[in-house]
Amino acid sequence: MNILVINSGSSSIKYKLFCMKNLELLQDGLIEKIGEDNSSIKSHHEALLGIFESVKNFDSIAHRVVHGAEEFESATIITPKVIELIEELIPLAPLHNPANLDGIKISKELYPEVTQVAVFDTAFHQSMPKHSFLYALPTKLYEQSKIRRYGFHGTSHFYVAKECAKFLNDDLKKLNLITLHLGNGASACAIENGVSVDTSMGFTPLEGLVMGTRSGDIDSAIVFHLVNTLGYTLDEVDKLLNKQSGLVGICGSNDVREILNSSNSSSKLAIDIMAYRIKKYIGSYIAILGRVDAIIFTGGIGENSAVIRSKVLDGLDLAFNIEEDSVKNEEKFDKISLISKDSSKIKLFAIKTNEELEIAKQSYEVINE
Ligand code: AMP
Repeated sequence: MNILVINSGSSSIKYKLFCMKNLELLQDGLIEKIGEDNSSIKSHHEALLGIFESVKNFDSIAHRVVHGAEEFESATIITPKVIELIEELIPLAPLHNPANLDGIKISKELYPEVTQVAVFDTAFHQSMPKHSFLYALPTKLYEQSKIRRYGFHGTSHFYVAKECAKFLNDDLKKLNLITLHLGNGASACAIENGVSVDTSMGFTPLEGLVMGTRSGDIDSAIVFHLVNTLGYTLDEVDKLLNKQSGLVGICGSNDVREILNSSNSSSKLAIDIMAYRIKKYIGSYIAILGRVDAIIFTGGIGENSAVIRSKVLDGLDLAFNIEEDSVKNEEKFDKISLISKDSSKIKLFAIKTNEELEIAKQSYEVINE
């Protein structure tokens, strides 16, 4: 069986075609700048028509959907009811779910007979216990308005956790892990006996680590101050926290490669603040997990930057007997690299994530159930 994975974003569509027999990537592509002024591709419909012109040999289609809230705990075959539910969740993910839905609806229209599956970024975190996912807000906000922590990047956290278990030749259900997805968006996840028990992103992807353009954790009273004292509109605050903060807010760039090559003091500070926040999350997740078998770095930064990994791990030997092997940390690798010393109490890994492959695998399982 060949599965076509479609990741339909607001202005881009990524696709990958996998042969599920040997998990081989058969074809992939990216259409960007959909609907932008000087782009020749005006709509998602047009972009998907182009994709379906070049990709013919698929048996099923799998769609990435950002927000599944409490309605979806796992990959789900798309029916009219599922589409309705994803539509109802738009207020929780106003930027992402509509674009994901466009991809689903157009594919359904063009291929009504083909089985299609939705795989949700939030699903892996549905195992979080109440004391971890509830905010200390009036309970009615959760019960009536669904305000709680959901977490995102679930497909990536789950994928690297499974790759780690495979490498250790161990059962994931017996492992406690801390996974760090460090890309332009970034999140940490505490995994206990194979399931997510906490993660740094919350009601939206804004909470948690310092990201490329997002602030991560801040005192929410800053919002009142921005609006009431400094005269910002709420739209401006939204843009400020999501698009103009994080690394870009501190040093003007969200490209970690560029930041690491810069000698500006603001670049150094941006890296220091980002690494410090990651270290705080590692410490707190060790505290809640008790025993930790491995810490895993993934995402564009986590996979590629030995410097950032080293900076995050610096000092953890004293408190937690975590010992990086600086030679292994620098080595290039294909899929997975063990970067801790044999004497380290907690194993350290860099693992290349593959969200699309994980989406294809989960879809294959649900189709064959
Ligand atoms: P992602 O969103 O997962 O694609 O990750 C994007 C981030 O990874 C950007 O900040 C890139 O600068 C960063 N990145 C990619 N390659 C490297 C590298 N070799 N060293 C440091 N950062 C990198």
